[in-house]
Amino acid sequence: MNSLRTSQYNLRRREQRARESLDERFQRRSARNAADRLRRARARSDQQMANRVNSQAETNVSEHDCGMMTEICNFCQALYWRNELNSSNKYTKCCHDGKVRLPNLAETPDLLKEFLTNNSLEARNYQNHIREYNAALAFASMVAEVKSPPANGPYCFRIHGHIYHRIAPLYSNERFKPGYGQLYIFDASEANSRRLENNPSCLSSVMEKLDALLRTINPYAKSYLQMHQLIQSNPTVNVKMIFMEHLDLDMRRYNAPTSRTEVAAIFVGDDGEPPANRDICIYPIGEGCKNISPLNQCNDPMVYPLLFPRGEQGWSNEMEHVEERRSAKRNRVTQLQFYAYRLSVRSGFSLLHSSGKLFQQYVVDAYVKTEGSRLNYIRLNQKDLRVEFYRGLLDALTTRASNNNLRVGKLVILPSSFQGSPRSMQQNYQDAMAMVRKFGRPDLFVTFTCNPSWPEILNAMQGRERPENRPDIVVRV
Ligand SMILES: [Zn+2]
Repeated sequence: MNSLRTSQYNLRRREQRARESLDERFQRRSARNAADRLRRARARSDQQMANRVNSQAETNVSEHDCGMMTEICNFCQALYWRNELNSSNKYTKCCHDGKVRLPNLAETPDLLKEFLTNNSLEARNYQNHIREYNAALAFASMVAEVKSPPANGPYCFRIHGHIYHRIAPLYSNERFKPGYGQLYIFDASEANSRRLENNPSCLSSVMEKLDALLRTINPYAKSYLQMHQLIQSNPTVNVKMIFMEHLDLDMRRYNAPTSRTEVAAIFVGDDGEPPANRDICIYPIGEGCKNISPLNQCNDPMVYPLLFPRGEQGWSNEMEHVEERRSAKRNRVTQLQFYAYRLSVRSGFSLLHSSGKLFQQYVVDAYVKTEGSRLNYIRLNQKDLRVEFYRGLLDALTTRASNNNLRVGKLVILPSSFQGSPRSMQQNYQDAMAMVRKFGRPDLFVTFTCNPSWPEILNAMQGRERPENRPDIVVRV
């Protein structure tokens, strides 16, 4: 109907114009041009007015400031900014509302505190090469492909692909140079000269002091030495050292354990149960390094002796929630909860947070371990995740493979509840589009960047800490 009317109107107008004289045409056109000019002028003045209002509004905006970290969790004394309250007015990121309670890390040895807070030549060398020092003194190594981001900028620990944690047997042979825990059975000066060979940028004086410190307070160093002494006194018997999954191990099940420090059991003879999958077992002689489970609670202190100099244990699946606050169904401390507790900021000097580049490495390692455990769960629980619903997908895949003469491997489906998986991304995108359909197109597209010299970030730095080494603070601000 409308289109009919429009076409009739157009027809009439065309006929009118065909009839009008030159004069009439001139008058019509000048009236139209005058109206156009007026409209443009009005639009310009509206825009100028809007600009004036905007510029006034921008000068009136006060800078947002989170203030200082003054709020404290009632359960674990973690520090918070006021704006970090969740929707139920609680701070829960540290200890999950009091469910998680871990033993405090032991007091930092004076030597390490000095190295991290002073400005002397030794201290600066230690801070710059803390990852080399740690690797030289560690009992197990973290193997990963380190890929620093391109271009200049502050140090950033970035890895690509898998992480492995590896451990060496007690004695080296012709093919493998001594390293890691093996060096603690040498006398100090020889061990140090070997360590400096591999790490030329480290200072000999610093290395000596660290070695002496670990030999006195680190239980792993003591265990290695003890095993060595035992083998020297009885060269014919079979000896192995096991770093156990949990400390309340019933020792009677094993054959004649001759010694046990806080963390390790040294077994003589081949009787007794073989070590479980996740135990870390060290034999006197072996073929090079072997992988150890990232789930063993000794993994963290063995890889990071400079963060846990007294051998403080890492996460173990035996850890339980605090009795009075646990729920009936879920009562184990998860890996994520463990690391959230450890990474929370509390008052006082923290060896972990002050350790700069090594702290970055620890955070990356913790993230990879946690994500690895989640992926493992998905791999082992495909039945519960109702994978049979994806039959059609599997059929399509098999057909395509057989057309191309390929064999399909085992299918593992990553559910959309796994953050960052393609299906999770797809779901988020669909949700966003559904909102657009309901409420119309968005007015603003907001991107957010962070400046490391924001006062909140700088106020949270202690001593010689730098924002680039405190990703935990930067993301929170
Ligand atoms: Zn707390």
